[in-house]
Amino acid sequence: MLTTVYVALGANLAQPHKQLDDAVQALTQLAKHTSLQVSAYYQSTPMGEVEQPDYLNAVVSFDTDLTPLALLDALQAIENQQGRERIVRWGARTLDLDILLYGQQVICSERLTVPHYGMKQRSFVLVPLADIAPSLILPCQTPLSALIDDDLRAELQQHSWEHCTQR
Ligand code: ATP
Ligand code: MG
Ligand code: MG
Repeated sequence: MLTTVYVALGANLAQPHKQLDDAVQALTQLAKHTSLQVSAYYQSTPMGEVEQPDYLNAVVSFDTDLTPLALLDALQAIENQQGRERIVRWGARTLDLDILLYGQQVICSERLTVPHYGMKQRSFVLVPLADIAPSLILPCQTPLSALIDDDLRAELQQHSWEHCTQR
């Protein structure tokens, strides 16, 4: 059985646009059939207190037959392949892949919380998510569009695809 999943991408080290491009390639392999959809890339200011470069963020969706934990394993393998090191919470990273939504499922386990606990507050998640799923309804029944306004959009700077794919 296939489930549509939404995954948030973030990178702020080692050519972030290349990290996102490479992650999209890897996720294309993971996606069943040709189901992968990719948002624009957005520049965002880091969360938390750590001094670090701005982030580049995007959201993808695809259909998968992996279980939620198998999907998390696959995403962490891609993070590791792209040199992810876990040093401090919310510190700089080559690549972060977070599961936002796994169909309409609500999951609360030791390794996995879905929907992602921070998604409703994060402009760099909500705005790209709306690029690829403007009429999405979250499992809590809130329409995605109700969470997005002009102020939230103004927090982000959109990067053209051409810019992002330049090496
Ligand atoms: P944040 O979760 O606030 O965005 P982060 O992405 O930097 O922070 P990570 O270091 O990437 O945090 O992940 C820490 C742990 O979070 C992972 O080992 C994973 O088990 C757990 N986790 C819980 N829910 C999710 C989810 N929905 N997607 C990805 N990881 C999750
Ligand atoms: Mg994260
Ligand atoms: Mg993460």
